[in-house]
Amino acid sequence: MDPIHIAVVGLGKIARDRHLPAIAGNATFSLAATVSPHDTGLDGIPHFASLDELLEQGPAIDAVSLCTPPQVRYDLAAQALKRGVHVFLEKPPGATLSEVVALRDRADKVGVSLFAAWHSRFAAGVAPARTWLAERTIEKVSIVWREDVRVWHPGQAWIWEPGGLGVFDPGINALSILTHILPRPVFLTNATLSIPANRAAPIAADMHFRDTAGAEIHMDLDWRQTGPQSWDIVVETDAGTLKLSSGGAVLALPSGTEHNEDLEYPGLYARFANLIRGGRSDVDIDPLRLVADAFLRGRRVSVEPFID
Ligand code: NAP
Repeated sequence: MDPIHIAVVGLGKIARDRHLPAIAGNATFSLAATVSPHDTGLDGIPHFASLDELLEQGPAIDAVSLCTPPQVRYDLAAQALKRGVHVFLEKPPGATLSEVVALRDRADKVGVSLFAAWHSRFAAGVAPARTWLAERTIEKVSIVWREDVRVWHPGQAWIWEPGGLGVFDPGINALSILTHILPRPVFLTNATLSIPANRAAPIAADMHFRDTAGAEIHMDLDWRQTGPQSWDIVVETDAGTLKLSSGGAVLALPSGTEHNEDLEYPGLYARFANLIRGGRSDVDIDPLRLVADAFLRGRRVSVEPFID
């Protein structure tokens, strides 16, 4: 079978760190081109300053991975779908819920695969955590997602702009795990969003949720963490405590702890190939909906300006 000829759009941090190696490691894909306005591309791979240019003048492609900031993703995805090109959306899948729904409907209509990728769901501990929790009564959940924005997002102006999500850019990863491993739907009950006086997006959020059986869920999300970083989810159940740490890579159950190799991006590309070959899409908007609810229902407090 011919490989899937794929172009990577947006040659920034995540494209270079994770997408390019995952594509190189998956024989189902062949990297056909790259697109990025201010980059010179890779040796031996055709490079274009815009998706328009690639679609007009470039080699034929079957699929694109959109690794740009979310604010520009809708137009790029719509352009690709219009040409019958399969689309992989980095997380978050868009800057608004309605644009993602519009893309999903469009992909269904034209019979092209659209994949809203939630990379943290592919972390090694997440699938076994979901299986273990399916049989339990959930009593309480605590999420601590605290990292240093200066380390992880240096100089990324888009992340502080409307649609860039601020601290929800990493926080949505925790929500993608939460909505995947808990057996019942979750909804926000209240939130406080701390927004630097000179920025449009939060630097921290304190959030309370409940599941439909009444279990309380608390999330402490903060970008001002220096020193040790935390990406932990603790679930207390009738059969003991489950802890996912390191963003989902390490799973501790009452029976012991499992450390596993990094499966996230290889897993995402295996899934994307599967969707394309099977003529299906996978567009789950639950994590983005919880973030939208935080903006809808949360109290905003102004905090000290943030300077990079
Ligand atoms: P980044 O380093 O700022 O890279 C974004 C890239 O998008 C830039 O290199 C920029 O290219 C390109 N771009 C902007 N507008 C474009 C357009 N219209 N057409 C084509 N390319 C365009 O950001 P990032 O950290 O890689 O994050 C990108 C996305 O991945 C975000 O949604 C983020 O949430 C997600 N993500 C990031 C991480 C991470 O650890 N960084 C992890 C998982 C997911 P030029 O520089 O050439 O202008």
